Amino acid sequence: MTEVIDGEAVAADVRSGVADCVATLADAGVKPGLATVLMSDDPASETYVSMKQRDCEEVGIESVHVEIDANAPAAELYKTIDDLNQREDVHGILVQLPVPDHVDKRGVLRRIDPEKDVDGFHPENVGRLVAGNARYKPCTPHGVQKLLDAYDVETEGADAVVVGRSDIVGKPMANLLIQKAPTGNATTTVCHSRTEDLDAKLADADIVVAAAGIPEFVDGSTLKSGATVIDVGINRVDADTEKGYELVGDVDYDSASEVAGAITPVPGGVGPMTRAMLLYNTVKAAARRHDVDIDLP
Ligand code: NAD
Repeated sequence: MTEVIDGEAVAADVRSGVADCVATLADAGVKPGLATVLMSDDPASETYVSMKQRDCEEVGIESVHVEIDANAPAAELYKTIDDLNQREDVHGILVQLPVPDHVDKRGVLRRIDPEKDVDGFHPENVGRLVAGNARYKPCTPHGVQKLLDAYDVETEGADAVVVGRSDIVGKPMANLLIQKAPTGNATTTVCHSRTEDLDAKLADADIVVAAAGIPEFVDGSTLKSGATVIDVGINRVDADTEKGYELVGDVDYDSASEVAGAITPVPGGVGPMTRAMLLYNTVKAAARRHDVDIDLP
């Protein structure tokens, strides 16, 4: 029997734990605050940002939102980040990616105060993660780690394959899986667009994390029987629905769920975890700033 990993349920547990942390912070006179910055006309980015604001409200995190015209000079975004870095009521800053082409993404990420970098993308935080001393783990791979933990998936000694090497998913995911730590200790292979014979790598994998951004790319026929399959992908494909599209993952769910031991659905798998871990990092940032002990979920 294939177990369907319920990301909504695990995310609800994380949110509940975060709400407890918010209460502890309130007792210490601290209200955690997250700033979201949107410099884009992309409807998907607008939706992501408004979902993040709603999530904050639900657990008692104050949210501050700044919108910048997508054609404005990069300096305007830099000035916004500088101001938010200074604000005492803002503990976390999230610049919704992608930023427009005329803005240097790396410059933006470097500009955020590393203590407020709740996405975990600042080079200092990337370095700390790689060194095994993470301050803020990037939300998506951290969410995957929580799912593996919640479903008692043994990572120690397991062969893991991460499909994708992006800075936000693939690389930090692989770094978490190789750490000498609980939910680490996996022998991890990172596959990417230049990988030869991906199928051979997948055939040996006990754990597959698919983050290639290609709809239904990983087919069940390539998987080892009983493997744990984590589908990070969120792809809009044309469909005869009210919206004209539907969301599918990077894994062909129907064929994979016949082979896998456990699998995440799309939607309802990794997506809700990514959102929950942003709240987690925000309360962590507030607790660090004010030196309050909280019991993170
Ligand atoms: P990306 O486009 O930055 O990276 C895709 C990676 O896939 C690249 O590293 C590339 O080398 C690799 N790749 C491309 N073709 C390949 C092939 N044929 N074989 C092996 N590897 C190949 O994407 P990303 O930002 O890492 O996102 C990946 C997917 O995850 C997307 O669908 C995205 O929407 C989704 N995503 C979901 C969440 C979530 O919360 N669930 C968060 C972030 C991203």
